[in-house]
Amino acid sequence: MIRKVLITAGPTREMLDPVRFLSNRSTGEMGYALAKACQKAGYAVTLVSGPTALKPSPGIRYIPITDTAELQKACTRFFPKHDALIMAAAVSDYRPRKTSRTKIARAGKLKLTLEPTPDIVAGLAKRKGRRLVIGFCLETQDWLKRAKRKCIRKGLDGIVANYLSPQHDPFGKRSVRMALVTPESKPQAERILPKQSKDALAGTIVRWMRTLAKKGYRSPKK
Ligand code: C5P
Repeated sequence: MIRKVLITAGPTREMLDPVRFLSNRSTGEMGYALAKACQKAGYAVTLVSGPTALKPSPGIRYIPITDTAELQKACTRFFPKHDALIMAAAVSDYRPRKTSRTKIARAGKLKLTLEPTPDIVAGLAKRKGRRLVIGFCLETQDWLKRAKRKCIRKGLDGIVANYLSPQHDPFGKRSVRMALVTPESKPQAERILPKQSKDALAGTIVRWMRTLAKKGYRSPKK
């Protein structure tokens, strides 16, 4: 049974120097909407969030983070105390190998060396026991196929698939089309949801989470 839900939201910032960073277009709208929906459903909510312009609702335990390393530390600390994790944060896949302690001065061409960040949700899913782990993904091609592959590769119970195209920009407060994908879903059985607001979607995702938990669903071994 789910009582406590850990939610991650927003982007991470990977600092190049004390002034500049690498990040992405995530606004945190989806994660914050999920936090509200989970609270409304009666769950105790911890929200770990990258920098956004949003404010969590009162009653939500709020843990602000900036970069992937901080997000990983917070998730590792809080995950064992929760029954479910919804990983909606847009985690940077790469970070600068080194962060300069001083502001990098302009001087001709600058080469950046990036290293991959640890896959936080995949690491947590390995040690999830009876906890439920739901991820998110944003694709620009073959969104359903890629989502399913990611769900299996990362050992998730389910993944909320999202896509970006010239006709569908999912960033910010707007209506979006998403799909609920599980490791076993058949392509034709993928649950593509009608276009709707992120608040409405959050309610649907919470109901889906409850169904997955009731089924006692566990990800198959890779
Ligand atoms: O970026 P990607 O499409 O792989 O993200 C899929 C899921 O993995 C998301 O839930 C995201 O929060 C998570 N992720 C992560 N650590 C990373 C990259 C992504 O936990 N370094």
